[in-house]
Amino acid sequence: MKIGIPKEIKNNENRVGMTPAGVFELIKNNHTVYVQKDAGFGSGFFDQDYKDVGATILETIEEVYTSSDMIVKVKEPIAEEYPLIKSHHVVFTYFHFASSEALTKAMLKSEAVCIAYETVEDIDGTLPLLTPMSEVAGRMAIQQGAKYLEKPIKGRGVLLGGVPGVPPGKVLVLGAGTVGIQAAKMAAGLGAHVTIMDINMKQLRYVNDVMPNHVVTEFSSEFNIRKRIKDHDLIVGGVLLKGAKAPNLITRDMLKEMRPGTVIVDVAVDQGGCVETSKPTTHEEPTYIIDDVVHYCVANMPGAVPYTSTLALTNVTLPYVLRLANQGWKKACENDKMLAKGLNVVNGKIVYQEIAEAFNWSV
Ligand code: NAD
Repeated sequence: MKIGIPKEIKNNENRVGMTPAGVFELIKNNHTVYVQKDAGFGSGFFDQDYKDVGATILETIEEVYTSSDMIVKVKEPIAEEYPLIKSHHVVFTYFHFASSEALTKAMLKSEAVCIAYETVEDIDGTLPLLTPMSEVAGRMAIQQGAKYLEKPIKGRGVLLGGVPGVPPGKVLVLGAGTVGIQAAKMAAGLGAHVTIMDINMKQLRYVNDVMPNHVVTEFSSEFNIRKRIKDHDLIVGGVLLKGAKAPNLITRDMLKEMRPGTVIVDVAVDQGGCVETSKPTTHEEPTYIIDDVVHYCVANMPGAVPYTSTLALTNVTLPYVLRLANQGWKKACENDKMLAKGLNVVNGKIVYQEIAEAFNWSV
C-alpha cells in the first residue's frame, strides 16, 4: 500500500503522524511511504531520518495526498485539506467529528474512509489511542502548575517539594483516571502532599494501593472539595463523564475561598472544564486570573511537547496502521472489531451513531 504522512498545518501543531521507526516497520512490510518535506521537523525528526529508512520525501501536501492510498496524520483535517481528500483514501487520524459539522459534511462529500483514533476501543471499553495524550497532559499539569505557582507570574510563591524545615506544597487532583493518576504520580515525585478525589471507588482503591503514603484518596463531593480548596496550592482538573460535558465541581463562588495565587490547571477544559470559570486558552497565552486565582486552561497541552507526544501517540497507532496497510481497511476491521469502532465515515455515509446524533441526523 502507498501511505502518506503529510505535515500538520493546524495552528501550532508540531506533532507528526509517524516517526522514522514507524516508517521502517511499514517499509519492512513492503509498503511505500511518502513523507511531506519537514513533516517531522517540529517533533525533532528530519527528512534525512525518514530517507534513511526508505521513505520518499515529497515537496507538497498535494503530492502526498495524490500519491497515497492511506493518509496517517494527527489532527482532524482543516478546511484547506478538505479538497485533498478523495474517495480512494483511507484517512487515519483524530477527527472529533461531533464537534464539527463542517468537517463531517466535507468528509461525507469526499467519500473517503475515515477512521478516528478517538473511537478505536480496547476490549475493556477504554480508548487506547486517547490514553497516551491524557498521560502526557496529566504529567504536564504538574510541570505547568509548579511553574505558575511562582510569584513573578502571580502564583502563591510556593515550591511544591518544600525544603528541609518547610512543608511541601499541597496538590488537589480531581478525577483519578488517566490524567489524575499521572498528575498525582508527578506531584508525589516532587514531594508535594497530594489529595486525589474521584466518585469511582475502584479507581480510589487502585490509587490507594499503588501510590506512596503522601498521596491521600478522598471521595469526591462538594463538601470535601470546598474543604480542600481552602489550603491546597495547586488544583488539577481531570474529570470525565464519557460523552458529556465535564461537571462544574468548582463554582465561581468557590474561588473566593481559595488563597490568592492558587493555581488551577483544568485539563478537562476540552470537555468544557470542571471549573465554572474555565475557558480554553492557548500555549501563547496559557493563563488568566479571576479572583486572584491563576487559571491554566490549554486545550491541547500535548502540543507543547511534540517530541514526547509524537512518540507516545505513534507507539499506540503503529500496530493499527500496520494492520490497515497489510490487510486493507475492510479485512482489518472485519478481523478486529475494536479497530472497527474507529470507522466513523465510510464512502459518504456516517457509520458511527453518536456522530449523526450530535447533529440530529438519521444514519
Ligand atoms: P478518564 O476517564 O481516564 O478519567 C476521568 C475520571 O473522572 C474517572 O475516573 C471518573 O470516575 C472521574 N470522575 C467523574 N466524575 C467525577 C467527579 N464528580 N469527581 C471526581 N472525579 C470524577 O479520563 P482522562 O483520560 O483522565 O481525561 C480527563 C479529561 O482530560 C478529559 O476531558 C480529556 O479529554 C481531557 N484531556 C485534556 C487534554 C488537554 O490537552 N487539555 C489532553 C488529554 C486529555
